[in-house]
Amino acid sequence: MLRYINYDIVFQEIPDEVTLAVNISCCPHRCAGCHSSHLQEDIGETLDENVLSVWLENYGNAITCLCFMGGDAEPHEVERLADYIRKKNDRIKTAWYSGRANLPADFSLVNFDYIKLGAYMEHLGGLNAPSTNQRFFRIEKGKMIDRTSRFWKI
Ligand code: SF4
Repeated sequence: MLRYINYDIVFQEIPDEVTLAVNISCCPHRCAGCHSSHLQEDIGETLDENVLSVWLENYGNAITCLCFMGGDAEPHEVERLADYIRKKNDRIKTAWYSGRANLPADFSLVNFDYIKLGAYMEHLGGLNAPSTNQRFFRIEKGKMIDRTSRFWKI
């Protein structure tokens, strides 16, 4: 079962989208310089179809994307909830911010439009740093297209 700490409508996490980003707790990673260490704790409210249904009802006309921020302890649950969003409202794109270097085994891309991979490494910087180890992908026809450079101001 996934749990979340909070959520907000954001504009920078996914380029060209108005995104409802939900911060998921129980992060299994221990990135040095973690910017949100409270997300490592096993705390928060249950994130399930009932919660998503309410958010889609309340914000569905205002957003173009819903992004799961975390959930690496239960990636297949993230996958399952993305599938729920697809079936409930196929106008809303879906995204996953993962701290993993690679996708988990048997993880299906079919229910995602965007995926970010990579742990946060302070000395390399986040997505907005050209030196970053993190990668941001657009999913197109089942393929992961690297769009990380969209975050770089050149
Ligand atoms: S993935 Fe994010 S929340 Fe988890 S330890 Fe790393 S920086 Fe912190």
